[in-house]
Amino acid sequence: MARLIMKFGGVSVADGKRLRHVGDLVKHFNSDNEIVIVTSALQGVTDDLLFAARKAANEGNVSDVIDFIEKLTDRHHQAVADAIKDQGIAREVQETLDQKLSELEKAYIGICYLGELTPRSLDYISSYGEQLAAPILAGVLRDMGVPSRAFTGAEAGIITDSEYGDSRPLEKTYHLIPQRLLPLQGVPVVTGFIAKDEKGTITTLGRGGSDLSASLIGAAIDADEIWFWKETSGVLTTDPKIVPEAKSIPSISYREAMELSYFGAKVLHPRAIEPAIRKGIPVRVKCTFDPESPGTQIVHDDVQKVDVIKAVTLHKNVALLNISGAGMIGTLGVAARAFTALARAGINIIMISQGSSEANISMVIEERQMEKAEDALRAEFPRDLVKDISHDLNVCAVAVVGAGMAGTPGVAARVFKAMGSSRINVMMISQGSSQHNISFVVAAKDAERAVQELHREFGLGGEA
Ligand code: ASP
Ligand code: MG
Repeated sequence: MARLIMKFGGVSVADGKRLRHVGDLVKHFNSDNEIVIVTSALQGVTDDLLFAARKAANEGNVSDVIDFIEKLTDRHHQAVADAIKDQGIAREVQETLDQKLSELEKAYIGICYLGELTPRSLDYISSYGEQLAAPILAGVLRDMGVPSRAFTGAEAGIITDSEYGDSRPLEKTYHLIPQRLLPLQGVPVVTGFIAKDEKGTITTLGRGGSDLSASLIGAAIDADEIWFWKETSGVLTTDPKIVPEAKSIPSISYREAMELSYFGAKVLHPRAIEPAIRKGIPVRVKCTFDPESPGTQIVHDDVQKVDVIKAVTLHKNVALLNISGAGMIGTLGVAARAFTALARAGINIIMISQGSSEANISMVIEERQMEKAEDALRAEFPRDLVKDISHDLNVCAVAVVGAGMAGTPGVAARVFKAMGSSRINVMMISQGSSQHNISFVVAAKDAERAVQELHREFGLGGEA
């Protein structure tokens, strides 16, 4: 008897048919495991809620709000009708939904009149996606004969600070969750993404935050594993749209998984697995369409050091930002000032490199933030210190990731030899001292070819 947390989101909870499939999966694994479910909103609902909120604040049109609530009601009622057979259970769930939808409608109308939208009201509004999804899933399980009850994040014990839109769980969450959920009765369905602060106001854990909710709950009730059900077959060696031979990686370490997501692989948000790491609980990425396959297991760092390179990632829509000037040589604090100025302007730096001549620093940032970044640096530096601020657009960051490269000579040589033989020009290189990845920048036109070459060079499709 293992205790499992299962998280569902995205396409897995798109509509009644998919929700029924989730019910089947849970029922299947429930016969010899204890399960807690964490669910996201039905696919796309969070985006819809936020869009409608901004529209209400800008245009203040109450009849738009009423239309929107009607559509949302139809979509959720339809899901209930498609997923739940027992009429009594279906009615009960629909009543719960209607109650929530009418609260939500009131909030939207308030926004129309006020014409303003605070981060706090955005959290309130966006919490309804999950609040509507969880009762349906609990109803589906009851319909299948599995005792189940829906919990909001706060009811399950998740309490956060009051950073609306991006709240962090408080330490006491770890004590509250077991008090609220244990001993498990049937299969609880907990809303991902949402929580409350100590004042009792609804908060959210940031976009995509359901993964973090699942991981928190798993860590708090000492789960044996935390399963993230996705549409892909686990974590892949690279994007199968670029390399059709991309394969599912059987096992990777927490560190490798984090490196992968920093470099654009849509695996799991690094923050999301923090609680699991803290308790050493293995995480598994499973494919909803292929439930019998083991997927990818993400385990403690020491366990996995077999393959040198596990995956190749491509980060698109980035740009290279360079600052240079002879005045920078030997001058203290230039890097500190540059990074501080960028941080203040809200710019995230993805890669950094400075040659030992100290006459230039290159950084990779998101392309859409380039203008803001250059403005911030111009405002920071006098021309005698930093002479040139320039950029390259149409570039991509490629990264090879794998813990096994730490201390293994010749990996960088293989990477760059592969680029050289394919006549791909490398514009910037960065390797952190963790030696868990080597990342570099190439022109966008060469990027996919670079990924294909590296995937082949390291035999990731099993072809070597
Ligand atoms: N529904 C939320 C979002 O779309 C949380 C999640 O899906 O994890 O961001
Ligand atoms: Mg979502």
